[in-house]
Amino acid sequence: MAENETAATTINKDDLIVIAGAGGFIAGSLTRYFRDQGFTNIRAIDKKPLPEWYQRVPGVECLSMDLSDEANCKIAVRGAKEVYNLAADMGGMGFIERFRVECLRSILINTHMVESAYNAGAERYFFSSSACAYNTTLQQDPNVRALKESDAYPAMAERGYGWEKLLSEMFCQEYWAERKMKTAIARFHNVYGPNGTWDGGREKAPAALSRKVIEAKETGDLNITIWGDGTQTRSFMYIADCVKGIDMITHCDDLIATPINLGSNYLVSVNDLVSLIEDIAGTKLERHYDLDAPRGVAGRNSDNTFIEEILGWEPHTPLREGMEKTYAWIAQQYEDRRAGKPTPAGKSDFKVVH
Ligand code: NAD
Repeated sequence: MAENETAATTINKDDLIVIAGAGGFIAGSLTRYFRDQGFTNIRAIDKKPLPEWYQRVPGVECLSMDLSDEANCKIAVRGAKEVYNLAADMGGMGFIERFRVECLRSILINTHMVESAYNAGAERYFFSSSACAYNTTLQQDPNVRALKESDAYPAMAERGYGWEKLLSEMFCQEYWAERKMKTAIARFHNVYGPNGTWDGGREKAPAALSRKVIEAKETGDLNITIWGDGTQTRSFMYIADCVKGIDMITHCDDLIATPINLGSNYLVSVNDLVSLIEDIAGTKLERHYDLDAPRGVAGRNSDNTFIEEILGWEPHTPLREGMEKTYAWIAQQYEDRRAGKPTPAGKSDFKVVH
């Protein structure tokens, strides 16, 4: 296998990198990753007001703009060498099962961003797709066969969110096929870590369950409600592994316009995840199962054959190590909020009650 290309080997340190969705979890961490690599010209954009961003990285130009508006996209990408689009109206199962219109409307973001990036002469464009783009009929058993890239077609994506991802992928593929802009597409499987949503209705299972365990410990009410029957299985990728993978995928010319899995292939059930968090927290809770709550597909795992073959990439962070860091960060946020300090997850626009 040839030496992998990355931004550090491909562009100059003062070339402009534009990152959309940077007030959120993954793009915020990607911004910090590039800044730590010594890139000096980064523009980070999100529609959230600046005080609500999880991370505002020093030395980075931070703009609050709605990127579903084409005029804003043109401003956002002006002068960009590379554009990373991770902006989307998204959340965990509670959000994507109930707010399909919001999820579908993210099509506007990618549609305008990819066109604006092309017109601005950007050399590379990254799009964050999702495992939700895969055919849902292949995910009805907790003992899933891991999903490989070809399993997206024939298409039967997750309603709303998954179809938006699939169509946006296609936009990226055609901008390469017809117009020769280098696009990169990663299908993320659940990503977790510090500096992400942990409350308010958009949080995903690792953060939601950590918060519930923290709450139980704090209040002394040693009960926990789990969505579904707890047997549903998923894999979880730590954020540091994710941002490294984004960099490698974006700069690999063998992967242009080629959707590729970016995720862990270590499968756990929600029940196992709860046990792990209990162990980290040093507590044991009485479990209650809410069978009416959103639970998503029965099982989902990432087949990493392709990414291992092309990039030699594999996730390095064991689930326990990543969850310890995530739990510690959420516990601190919880503490800060109780002490009356502002925390980014403190404002919720969609409250899912369960
Ligand atoms: P996030 O919600 O933390 O970040 C997304 C950000 O996009 C938010 O800060 C939001 O304010 C911003 N945004 C939404 N609409 C916008 C608009 N019109 N203009 C500008 N900004 C806008 O989510 P995340 O977990 O960081 O996800 C990043 C990307 O990765 C998304 O495209 C998501 O669909 C994808 N993804 C994430 C996961 C995961 O496990 N976190 C899994 C699969 C795919």
